[in-house]
Amino acid sequence: MLEIWDSVVVGAGPAGLTAGIYLSRLGFKALILDAGRAGGRLRSARLIENYPGFPDGVEGSVLADRFIDHARRFGADIREYEEVTALQLDTSPKLLATRKGSLYQGRTVILAIGAPRMMYSIEGEERLLGRGVSYCAVCDGPLYRGMDVAVVGSGMEALEDATLLSKLARKVYILASKPSRELVEASFQDNVEVYAGAEVKGIIGLEKVESIKFTYMDRDLELPVSAVFLALGILPPSKLLRSTSIELTPDGFIKVDSGQATSIEGVYAAGDCVGIGFQVAVAVGQAAVAALSASRYLEKVGAK
Ligand SMILES: Cc1cc2nc3c(=O)[nH]c(=O)nc-3n(C[C@H](O)[C@H](O)[C@H](O)COP(=O)(O)OP(=O)(O)OC[C@H]3O[C@@H](n4cnc5c(N)ncnc54)[C@H](O)[C@@H]3O)c2cc1C
Repeated sequence: MLEIWDSVVVGAGPAGLTAGIYLSRLGFKALILDAGRAGGRLRSARLIENYPGFPDGVEGSVLADRFIDHARRFGADIREYEEVTALQLDTSPKLLATRKGSLYQGRTVILAIGAPRMMYSIEGEERLLGRGVSYCAVCDGPLYRGMDVAVVGSGMEALEDATLLSKLARKVYILASKPSRELVEASFQDNVEVYAGAEVKGIIGLEKVESIKFTYMDRDLELPVSAVFLALGILPPSKLLRSTSIELTPDGFIKVDSGQATSIEGVYAAGDCVGIGFQVAVAVGQAAVAALSASRYLEKVGAK
């Protein structure tokens, strides 16, 4: 007989771990499964300066370990390297199958699977991630106050990043592969320089970003910068959800109501996978709401 968990949480990033803290502290049996190491994308963040309670900032992996310890302290069971590959959500209990071949049953399911970033796959991107390479100007922009930075991209996100960074950095270079309408119509501060039609060749630096190389109008150029913001957009987490009837937003993220409930009874979602905010504080707030909604549902169906 398979054990039935009160809640199976998919994803052990900030959202999943917070859901685990809330549920287990309320006395529910919570299982958290993660495809990799617990901590989620937080592990890639060098310094988090905008999470409340840490006025001097906190390393992403240190905060992740605090979340993990906190969830375990109240009895949440965290299982790493357990990628959920199939979901049966319309049944009661709900069924989850993992790549390793394990099956789990949950009275409720909380989806906290994050959302992958579009990667450029340019030289230096992966090696210097968190050391000057960033996908989030809101997160990392203030770390480069008064310095020279580059934004790579041509869409709305690049435009918003450049506008925000122009208020913080000394100089902002926008390297856009094509002269998009958004860029042509934008009016930037004087410290923004646009290279429309630039092809990025690599991000240079050993321990941290030192410069960016690109071709522009048939010339090879290299600009000294302290940070490179890659603004390509966030991919919706659609792969796992394709096998379910869960309702998605027009952008492909998980649709939730104000209680983080999805279109399927007993299934909740929180964090980057719902497509709002893409910040740790937002993810944990949504996860607290999701866990409280799940606990009310569990009480209603007589699980407690
Ligand atoms: C370099 C970097 C710097 C950042 N800096 C900041 C910052 O300064 N401030 C800030 O607020 N935010 C920052 N962020 C963003 C922040 O890390 C995310 O918003 C936050 O981690 C989202 O939490 P989450 O739990 O929703 O998703 P994630 O952290 O992405 O966690 C999702 C988890 O789900 C797991 N998962 C996915 N699919 C499956 C599956 N099928 N089965 C099992 N597990 C699965 C993944 O392995 C992952 O561990 C930064 C991000 C990066 C990458």
